[in-house]
Amino acid sequence: MSSYPHLVEPLDLGFTSLRNRVVMGSMHTGLEDRAWNTNKLAAYFAERAKGGVGLIITGGYAPNRTGWLLPFGAKLTNKTEAYRHRAITKAVHAEGGKIALQILHAGRYSYMPGSVSASSIKAPINPFRPRALSSKGVEQTIDDYARCAQLAKFAGYDGVEIMGGEGYFINQFLVPRTNKRKDKWGGSSENRRRIAAEIVERVRAATGPDFIIVFRLSMADFVENGQTWDEIAAVARDVEAAGATIINTDIGWHEARVPTIVTSVPRAAFVEWTAKVKGIVSIPVCASNRINMPETAEEILTRGDADLISLARPLLADPDWVVKAQEARTDEINTCIACNQACLDHAFQAKHVSCLLNPRAGRETELKLLPTRRTRRFAVVGAGPAGLSAAVSLAQRGHHVDLYESDDKIGGQFDIARRIPGKEEFTETIRYYTRMIEVAGVRLHLETRATAQQLIDGNYDEVILATGVRPRIPKIPGIDHPKVLTYAELVRDGKPVGKKVAVIGAGGIGFDVSEFLTVEGHPSLKLDEWKEEWGVTDDENVRGFVTTPKPSPAARDVVLLQRKTSSFGKGLGKTSGWVHRAAVKAKGVEQIGGVNYERIDDRGLHISFGEKRERPRVIECDNVILCAGQESVRELEEPLRTAGVRVHLIGGADLAAELDAKRAIEQGTRLAAAL
Ligand code: NAP
Ligand code: SF4
Repeated sequence: MSSYPHLVEPLDLGFTSLRNRVVMGSMHTGLEDRAWNTNKLAAYFAERAKGGVGLIITGGYAPNRTGWLLPFGAKLTNKTEAYRHRAITKAVHAEGGKIALQILHAGRYSYMPGSVSASSIKAPINPFRPRALSSKGVEQTIDDYARCAQLAKFAGYDGVEIMGGEGYFINQFLVPRTNKRKDKWGGSSENRRRIAAEIVERVRAATGPDFIIVFRLSMADFVENGQTWDEIAAVARDVEAAGATIINTDIGWHEARVPTIVTSVPRAAFVEWTAKVKGIVSIPVCASNRINMPETAEEILTRGDADLISLARPLLADPDWVVKAQEARTDEINTCIACNQACLDHAFQAKHVSCLLNPRAGRETELKLLPTRRTRRFAVVGAGPAGLSAAVSLAQRGHHVDLYESDDKIGGQFDIARRIPGKEEFTETIRYYTRMIEVAGVRLHLETRATAQQLIDGNYDEVILATGVRPRIPKIPGIDHPKVLTYAELVRDGKPVGKKVAVIGAGGIGFDVSEFLTVEGHPSLKLDEWKEEWGVTDDENVRGFVTTPKPSPAARDVVLLQRKTSSFGKGLGKTSGWVHRAAVKAKGVEQIGGVNYERIDDRGLHISFGEKRERPRVIECDNVILCAGQESVRELEEPLRTAGVRVHLIGGADLAAELDAKRAIEQGTRLAAAL
């Protein structure tokens, strides 16, 4: 008997069945865009099929050139392209999986001149104004969807997913925000939604009855003048009647100012909308967004809120997610922490997608952890992200590994991050490595500050220094004042702070600390509080389900400072930075740039501006928190090298300036693969 009986239950679709309830949601990897990456894409999907996924959905392929996301991006418009896809479908079928191709027309989100939409209304996140499609153009585009689906069938796909959400082409027709047409594709609600059913109908006619058609339906659009609930329900009924096999649910437009995927969004936050759709159609309905662990998925299925669960990023983080759930090895799941750093941030920078936690994602053909032919002995010093990834990867390859950590627990910077409100998911990574240390057989020595002599005497073949960083202490007169704390003393050690606080340094950690100081409790663990913070309403008649946010009052008065004059939070993640900037603004954090730090005394932090040190000001405060970057800790390097020990530096110990978990874990994994 499985711990997750509903999750592992097959789903009968009539003409075919899915082996369980897990759908790999569409995630554009960048590998789709170039023919020469087809084999990499095949290996990437095959690994997920081998890991037990029921139905895989590819990244988006445009049905014609005007639907491109980017110039010369992925499209499926001819047989030559379709032939290439056979490598992908074959590889997935060989692992017992099923795969559907996503048809995605970007509409006004197409990042190029010459894009088209329902009306000529520019998206706030795209400099290119689309042209309104003519009525003939709409008909042709619908035919292009049908042709694309036919080609997908020819390529061996088990089905297609028609992207109808996230503010893309179809979604642009559905809402008055972007559809001002006067013909039969605009005006009334019935006219606006006509295109969705028409596409499904023609795709069904072109592909026959035994082909999976998933329609990705936008639930809450989270933009003003989006759909009402009645309109969404009507689209669901229409696409069912038109021949859709499954409705996959989708949340929020790309231009929405409500976060839908970042780590501070509560788990399964949007399932109530999915449950409502399930109540009005008889075809299977799939839940999505911020579902990253089997318990959450099983609860949704048990309640009957959905028939299927879509996971996209969680399957980048762990391709064996399903098999681990099936075998009750949940504690071995490398849980997606919804950081977006190596997946969506990459996608939006036109870089290939991978995963911060699993750098092998998208690089399956290149980064392999093969069993070693010659077992050797390694010491890894430091159990932060870099050391943990190196130690576990080396042990998985069959090496003997001693992992030394001076603290009484593992995690390093993740042990700090997990305490920030909205970053609770980072705890999962520590749980994962705690378990993998046992499974892989790493010998962990906690509360052991390894000395050079100890490492020399240990006669290790090689030593990996992942000793991390220490907070930088800037040279400011009065820096020794008792009101000054480092971010580690505040967040990790829980040192008390007063009601008025100045934060020196506005990098990622300065923003995290500002949230830590101003946010009371953990709103991301409480859906109702979170909805209030971001202005999400349940009122079915409010278009787009957005209302005025009502942030809870700040717990403290915080002033965030930086020396540079550029805008605050510029270096934060592409897809998560705006959330941090908005959260800090909502809490009334004062942001002062272009400052000189003059001194710290009983009154507070004295600053001035410009080269001439003008406009002196005192930030009266109870505490000053240092978030001024880090310095590498690498004192062991020199004595070890002098003694002739082979030493490798990874993570923050190697490069403090880019203290970055993505780089640290990749460096640890790549080193382990090479040794
Ligand atoms: P950071 O991004 O380098 O920011 C440190 C800030 O301290 C700088 O912006 C700098 O601003 C200031 N600073 C540097 N030297 C200083 C000095 N001597 N005196 C006073 N101020 C000084 O470093 P971080 O905030 O520690 O973050 C480290 C890394 O962690 C980031 O690169 C990121 O990868 C990761 N991280 C990201 C996030 C996120 O995206 N939400 C959160 C946490 C951590 P000025 O020179 O302008 O004063
Ligand atoms: Fe999840 Fe972060 Fe990996 Fe993306 S990079 S899949 S958000 S853990």
